[in-house]
Amino acid sequence: MEWTLYLDMDAFYVSCELRDRPALRGRPVIVGPDPKKGASRGVVLSASYEARAFGVKSAQPVGAADRLCPEATWIDPEMGKYVATSREVREFVAGFESRVVAHSIDEMAVTVDAPDAAAAEARARRLQDGIRDGLGLPVSVGVATSRTVAKMATDVAKPGGLRVVPPAAVVDFLAPLPVRAIPGVGPKTSGLLQRYGIEQIADLRRPLPLGLRRELGEFAAWLAQLARGNVLESHDRDEAGPKSRSVDCTLEEDTRDPSELEGILEGMIERLVPSLEEEHLAFQTVTVALRWADFDQTQRSRTLSGAAVDAATLRAPARRLLGELLEREARGAGRPTRRLSLRVERLRPRLGSRRPIESFTRSAPDL
Ligand SMILES: [Mg+2]
Repeated sequence: MEWTLYLDMDAFYVSCELRDRPALRGRPVIVGPDPKKGASRGVVLSASYEARAFGVKSAQPVGAADRLCPEATWIDPEMGKYVATSREVREFVAGFESRVVAHSIDEMAVTVDAPDAAAAEARARRLQDGIRDGLGLPVSVGVATSRTVAKMATDVAKPGGLRVVPPAAVVDFLAPLPVRAIPGVGPKTSGLLQRYGIEQIADLRRPLPLGLRRELGEFAAWLAQLARGNVLESHDRDEAGPKSRSVDCTLEEDTRDPSELEGILEGMIERLVPSLEEEHLAFQTVTVALRWADFDQTQRSRTLSGAAVDAATLRAPARRLLGELLEREARGAGRPTRRLSLRVERLRPRLGSRRPIESFTRSAPDL
């Protein structure tokens, strides 16, 4: 029987830093540009669970995080360290298991053959214990016979847990979870489902209204099957369409300040590029989307002449697109921005990489 062990590192960037600074363990720690040293722009890249208890979360503007948790220790991000540590984890896992696919800088799916749930759990526990005790990094693990359910089990297990969902338990496991817990259901889709009175996955077992089926197309059928425990592994659906990667930031307070938005955009580029690097992905289309204070959304895209991989090639069109959106808005309705999204599409494996592209959309990982 084939099982997926889905590994998601807990507060990954922070955990990498705590290996070098053990004295900070158990304390609120934030990786991001330090507002106490004058950084007023930019966003939180990763927060320890102790900082999260104060309401701090990744992608939050640093000023807001500082107000929520003034006693936090801030650490400047060091991307090279996180990429190297990610490789270290993957090599460790590859020492035990042969079928390993990285999904981002801090997530990976391991496929194993195991006769039953107990055997699959033992394989998962060996990896989890080794990463925690051997490498000094906490990791949550979900175990199921489908990647989708394994990933959802990981989210439930966070932080530091291990959750096994055998096939016979899938329906009951999914039933009470909010629809937002389903990979591929973003805020837009969950909002739509809510308008039809669908809050939990159990609600998807009822016959779905015709209007909803029209709006969601094949994805509605996929969701209905999932809620019944029939997981069809590949589905291409999110606000962005298939094969994209994105990061979003909802602002604590709406703003019209272009320099504040540019700072946030820079933080988003720093989150997205290492993830793409880890997945060996190149991109060709860049999209910037702004949600305004009235919840209306405007976006602009640019397709580059060839596939690109680096931060500089992403930064130039992203900044230009943001500038164009703000300029047009300033000449028109002049609404303040409440949410900024950066998305790359037309993804392809980088030259020399044999890793397949996962045909689903994912947003920035919970680092
Ligand atoms: Mg993580």
